[in-house]
Amino acid sequence: MAKEKKGVRLEHISKIYQDPKTKKDFYAVHDTSLEIAPGSFVTLLGPSGCGKTTTLRMIAGFESPDEGEIYLGGEPINALTPNKRDTAMVFQSYALLPHYNIFDNVAYGLKLRKMDKETIKKKVMDILKLVGLEGMEGRMTNQLSGGQQQRVALARALVLEPGVLLFDEPLSNLDAKLRVSMRTEIRRIQQEAGITAVYVTHDQSEAMALSDQIIIMEKGVVAQIGTPQEVYYHPSNEFVADFIGEANFLRGTLVSTDTADIGGHKVAVAASGHDVGGACTLVLRPESAVLGDKGQLPCKVILSCFMGSYQNYHVMVGDTLVKITDFNPKNRKVYQVGDDAWVAFTSEDVHVL
Ligand code: ATP
Repeated sequence: MAKEKKGVRLEHISKIYQDPKTKKDFYAVHDTSLEIAPGSFVTLLGPSGCGKTTTLRMIAGFESPDEGEIYLGGEPINALTPNKRDTAMVFQSYALLPHYNIFDNVAYGLKLRKMDKETIKKKVMDILKLVGLEGMEGRMTNQLSGGQQQRVALARALVLEPGVLLFDEPLSNLDAKLRVSMRTEIRRIQQEAGITAVYVTHDQSEAMALSDQIIIMEKGVVAQIGTPQEVYYHPSNEFVADFIGEANFLRGTLVSTDTADIGGHKVAVAASGHDVGGACTLVLRPESAVLGDKGQLPCKVILSCFMGSYQNYHVMVGDTLVKITDFNPKNRKVYQVGDDAWVAFTSEDVHVL
């Protein structure tokens, strides 16, 4: 449906703002370089204030970078105003025209482009079908649910057939259940339309469910770029490990490229490329370990809670709290508070930082 899938490239982009309190300049985005492949779904993910919206707004042209160049489909676009860029944005607030019906909201941008009536009708009807609003074109937008309004906002952006579709936290105003169903819809629509999408969120499960690539930002810089699996299983640092899902951090020393010493216990690891003899941190996901009568690290159980689909444990390994999620408790011994046990995992279950 898109005329042409376009990629986006940021080269050494920075944005400087003034802190309204201290009046000091600071980098909201600092020396950021990244590449978004044509047709991919890429999420900018990070905590509040990390610079993701600023980055998106620079791609859209609502903000201009103080340093660096942005390219769309290989062309530099810094000098272009938003309406001259081949992008369209879906906002958190929807920003619909309240006294217009669905058809007129979606047709608005095409009318501005002075397209003929028949073409507009065909394009609007096609898009409404794609977003699941077929037959509702006469409804006023102020009589729609939040989810329906977001579909209209999506249709209005898609109908322009932009090279890149930009999303600024589009689901934040919806309730939790609708958010989950709408994100599946957004992914389906993006794939059917075959369009490049850049999506801002601070919700890590949303980013995981939607993305081909996740760009994790921290304090104005890119902390890691990777597939959901890469950032989950091979986080580049503690910030990423902690931000994406739950993580236990086991601190020790790297004895060799395949052994770490954690509190006097030897643990098998895969650590080629790391400095042997130095301090190391092992990232262990709660679902990657189980409790057993033997294992790698001795522990004491301080919380044992049956959650239906899993048994939730908190255990102390020395002074370190370790969380374990056992998804198959029916087939294993269940430990109780006060029990001594072992945390069991293999070298493939831990990631060395
Ligand atoms: P959130 O999830 O809260 O929207 P974000 O990661 O999108 O956060 P940005 O909106 O990009 O963060 O903001 C990055 C930093 O720049 C923040 O510290 C913010 O307060 C600041 N900032 C954003 N816009 C301006 C502005 N126009 N003037 C001054 N500071 C700004």
